Amino acid sequence: MTTASTDHEQVQAELEDAAAELASAERAHGDRYEGRVEVARSALRWAHDRYGDDLTIASSMGDVALVHLAGTTLSGADVFFLDTGYHFAETLATRDAYAAMLPLRIRTIYPLLGVAEQDARHGPRLHDREPDRCCAIRKVEPLGRALDGYEAWASGVRRQDAPPRAGTKILEWDHTRSMVKLNPIAGWTDDDVDRYLAEHDVPQNPLQHSGYTSIGCAPCTRPTLEGEDPRAGRWSGSAKTECGIHT
Ligand code: SF4
Repeated sequence: MTTASTDHEQVQAELEDAAAELASAERAHGDRYEGRVEVARSALRWAHDRYGDDLTIASSMGDVALVHLAGTTLSGADVFFLDTGYHFAETLATRDAYAAMLPLRIRTIYPLLGVAEQDARHGPRLHDREPDRCCAIRKVEPLGRALDGYEAWASGVRRQDAPPRAGTKILEWDHTRSMVKLNPIAGWTDDDVDRYLAEHDVPQNPLQHSGYTSIGCAPCTRPTLEGEDPRAGRWSGSAKTECGIHT
């Protein structure tokens, strides 16, 4: 008879084996761009084979490389988009373009409170006054519903995004949500992303051509300047660096 704890131990052991294999493949490919792309595709295939319809992929439609990779590696990949109500029109148009272009099943998840309801309950411009609370309502809580019933999720987080993400593994256990977390492009550099987008003629969020190197909600995102950290335009002027869905 198996128990919940032995089941959990088996899942952890299987995860550690798969993570070690992917890490080893990553090391074997060294600095080769082609190798990093192949490892990312292998990670997606492994997760799809293992979890099937219980795998879902998060995208804010700023990280379109992952969406394109999933759409061209897996058939009918499940992707979810958290519509905070504050996205740029260009971001929503990018989601719609990908839904039409690739065999993806894109789910749009909304917060429980509309923007007007949030304003009425918590006062206007909560994002300026209490961004953590605003993100909790508009991103973190909807993320929980987006992941409900799934066993594994994938994101486009990369080590080069920002120092707090430097230790990101391709495959890991998400302790916060007690499920598997896949970061297929964790090892990709900014140059890798640019090369992938160019090689595959990947349609991008148009804002990326206007200096937006990281794209989130409109009130909390500005274009970055030459030489700035790519995520410097997110919650600029405050100490906040993460919305809470990857922490
Ligand atoms: S990024 Fe800004 S607007 Fe979007 S949920 Fe967070 S605080 Fe609110």
